[in-house]
Amino acid sequence: MALLSIILPSYNEEANIARTAVRLTGVLEGANIPFELLFVSDGSRDHTYEEIRKLSLKDPRIRGVEFSRNFGKEAAIFAGLHLAKGSCCVVMDCDLQHPPEVIPQMYDLWKQGYDIVEGVKSDRGQESGLHRFFANVFYGLMSRVMKMDMRDTSDFKLLDRKVMDVLTGLTERNTFFRALTFWAGFSSVSVAYQVQERTYGESKWSFWGLLKYAVSNTTSFTTAPLQMVTVAGIAFIVASVILGAQTLFNYFTHNAVEGFTTVILLLLIVGGLLMLSMGVIGHYIARIYEEIKGRPRYIIAKDTVKDTGKEGAAS
Ligand code: UDP
Ligand code: MG
Repeated sequence: MALLSIILPSYNEEANIARTAVRLTGVLEGANIPFELLFVSDGSRDHTYEEIRKLSLKDPRIRGVEFSRNFGKEAAIFAGLHLAKGSCCVVMDCDLQHPPEVIPQMYDLWKQGYDIVEGVKSDRGQESGLHRFFANVFYGLMSRVMKMDMRDTSDFKLLDRKVMDVLTGLTERNTFFRALTFWAGFSSVSVAYQVQERTYGESKWSFWGLLKYAVSNTTSFTTAPLQMVTVAGIAFIVASVILGAQTLFNYFTHNAVEGFTTVILLLLIVGGLLMLSMGVIGHYIARIYEEIKGRPRYIIAKDTVKDTGKEGAAS
């Protein structure tokens, strides 16, 4: 049977590592699936890596690496994709919000020939009103860009080795894993799952963190904001023709003194719009700058395979 790699990005999850490993081991052994658990500790400041190391000493199927600092969940996922040895992999959160019981079903679908099995949320769990509003705006936009419904997608997916190789071969640094599997194509199928409540530890996302994540993901997939600058410019040229005609008419009919309010308003609007446009363009230039520096996406500081004196692996 083909090896399944489970990739688990973990940031300050000391309370979850052992529980998650036990649940996963139980489910996968029960379903007779050969597996490896690959915990990628994303620069955790608690004992996450120690927990992983303890487990890896007892069970050779468990491996963990530790980043030199927090590089973000995307980087952790990609490190996992690089290190995984399986013929396919499952990416999932290590807080058990993605139920391990769904994995055998995903694995069966993969054996039937599907290259990607998307985990789709059957409901969004508990979210505040504001969170839901922004999630709707963001996924609405992304769905339009990707020309498919992204609303209930998540990072919980199974990927065939082919897809893993495509993703790890990408040279870009600002990735959005969730959408990239759609971008890659291949034959895919989805499996619905119920988002579980997080029992231990806390969510790593603040409101601002999510907003930044949404902006960065949007701009890594679409240049629509740049086009919006052009559209705004065209709108202003049209308006300036109309207003210009009116102004000239007033001038020639000797009614030109009034209209001071209009001048102030126009200055404010045009000034604001110009600065906003420069901000949008600046954002894209910043992204180009980040990409062109070509720095590594993550740095691996510790590796349980090296710590226990067995073979090493480079990122
Ligand atoms: N995570 C990570 N790096 C980060 C933030 C989060 O690897 O900088 C991991 C985290 O350990 C968890 C997963 O990403 O396994 C999802 O994070 P979280 O549960 O905080 O997000 P939520 O489920 O609330 O969206
Ligand atoms: Mg979570």
